[in-house]
Amino acid sequence: MKLANVNDRAVLVLGDQIADVAEVSEGRFGPDPMALFDDWAAFTEFAATVTTGSAPLVEADLDNPVPRPRQVFAIGLNYRSHAEESGMALPEIPATFTKFPASLTGPFADVELAGATVDWEVELVAVVGARADRVAEADGWAHIAGLAVGQDLSERTVQFAAGSQFSLGKSYRGFGPIGPWLVSLDELADPDDLALGCSIDGTTVQDARTSDLIFSVPQLVAELSKVLPLLPGDVIFTGTPAGVGVTSKPPRFLQAGEVLETWIEGIGTIRNHFVAPAG
Ligand code: ZN
Repeated sequence: MKLANVNDRAVLVLGDQIADVAEVSEGRFGPDPMALFDDWAAFTEFAATVTTGSAPLVEADLDNPVPRPRQVFAIGLNYRSHAEESGMALPEIPATFTKFPASLTGPFADVELAGATVDWEVELVAVVGARADRVAEADGWAHIAGLAVGQDLSERTVQFAAGSQFSLGKSYRGFGPIGPWLVSLDELADPDDLALGCSIDGTTVQDARTSDLIFSVPQLVAELSKVLPLLPGDVIFTGTPAGVGVTSKPPRFLQAGEVLETWIEGIGTIRNHFVAPAG
């Protein structure tokens, strides 16, 4: 099942068509994309019965499929390759920060460059589908509704200012594109081993597999839920592999006019165009 957001209404994606969830369910499920996560098992059962859409899928209309999570977790240094390029030791617990929810944006949104050192980070995004409190790793996937493509855009100067300001430097307006839709786990042959990458104006800069994650998705559910409950609709940015701009030699950062395309095998591709800051 592919669940998308058009005009802040949940829609199912069926090939090149969409079906409005509230309409096709005759009100059993409402239009709010976030409300579905509170009743995820019943919703997925219903969604499996919908086989035809009623309107064309228009890429430019797609917004963030998880627009208002209560909590956003983001994990640093979670690929061996990225820890190595950063010259950092492998972490013993997930290196965790937040991207404040108002920084999230749609899969094809224009993003304003917040500074001269804005960097890219392709990331697998996992969305919580059932409250997870002290969950064992073996039960981790059962608490995930699905997966999406994300970018953990990062203003590196602010990220490393004042000691360390990960949450602030990664929360400028539009710094968290998610999409193009949420894909349920049954659509993926192996959700623990997906190719992912991104390109700038067609030149690939990151190219890896999620099997290189230090803390896998179910391990993250276990580790985070030891500390606090994960709530339906919460978002987990799972970390980025090697190939970011700040560790390139010489370092390079995103420029106005550039297009960042980001993909994950079995999920899809998002595309963000960078624009100069407004006055
Ligand atoms: Zn990241």
